[in-house]
Amino acid sequence: HAAKRSAVGHAWYSEAQEAARLTHLSLVSELRGAVAASQLQMWLQPKFSLVTGKSVGAEALVRWQHPQRGFISPAEFVPFAEQTGYITMVTDWMLREALRTLATWAPLHPELSIAVNISTRDLQDPGFARRVEGMLQTAGVDPSRLRLEITESGLMEDAQNSVALLHTLRGIGLPLSIDDFGTGYSSLAYLQKLPVSELKIDRSFIDSIDASPGTQKLVKAMIEMGHGMDLMVTAEGVETEAERATIARLGCDVMQGYLGARPLYGDALQTWFDQL
Ligand code: C2E
Ligand code: MG
Ligand code: MG
Ligand code: MG
Repeated sequence: HAAKRSAVGHAWYSEAQEAARLTHLSLVSELRGAVAASQLQMWLQPKFSLVTGKSVGAEALVRWQHPQRGFISPAEFVPFAEQTGYITMVTDWMLREALRTLATWAPLHPELSIAVNISTRDLQDPGFARRVEGMLQTAGVDPSRLRLEITESGLMEDAQNSVALLHTLRGIGLPLSIDDFGTGYSSLAYLQKLPVSELKIDRSFIDSIDASPGTQKLVKAMIEMGHGMDLMVTAEGVETEAERATIARLGCDVMQGYLGARPLYGDALQTWFDQL
């Protein structure tokens, strides 16, 4: 009886797996066209200083408006785009959008920067740094206004080369951030070699900061370590006033999260910008 059940279970499981695989295959092949057909959007989520309360910039987050499937979250397609290498197309598109926006912001708000997420695939592309340099020149934007974020786990995928590649990007004048910090198992010795200026503490720590004294101690230690290395420390995923108060008390510099603002697009983005 049990064997029959598990055989049925197995058949169902592989069918579901096969369906998932096909969905992802077709998504990946459609991603090429999505860029050309303007189905991608750049949303911007503002970041706020915990000292002054003012906006210090925004993070660019990609959105895919698929004509049949509707909205597809980056959590769904970015991993597949990374596996297939199509992510470099998405990154280039996001960089151009971010630079276009910065070019219009620049004269009005010199304090604002935009951060774009890059993946290890981008870092490993030998032409990446020169391409970004060219885009900056074309847009006429100072490199200090464009920040690049790379996840701690992404850096650890190719730890040895990442150090050199980040130095090249830093050499162009781009400020760099470590994203999702605390989830990627990097050593302190390694961190010290990275030419980064911002540490973004992963959202999972902020989620439990007020429920768990242990997490609170951990976040405090991460902030102190970041400051010890002269880094700006940002908390991701701040959703409540209690979380904001806690990280501010622990000395965190910047916050990002639904409490401050959700990712914005179109009229909502314009409204935020107009009241700066
Ligand atoms: P991330 O870089 O850590 O970006 C922050 C994610 O947290 C975003 O999700 C954002 O919408 C979400 N978030 C912000 N505040 C809050 C909050 O208060 N509560 C909660 N629950 N979530 C919050 P999103 O836009 O779905 O992106 C997910 C991930 O996909 C990003 O994580 C990033 O790793 C990746 N991603 C997004 N856009 C790009 C891109 O253009 N290129 C690459 N390579 N990756 C991207
Ligand atoms: Mg990010
Ligand atoms: Mg993050
Ligand atoms: Mg994250």
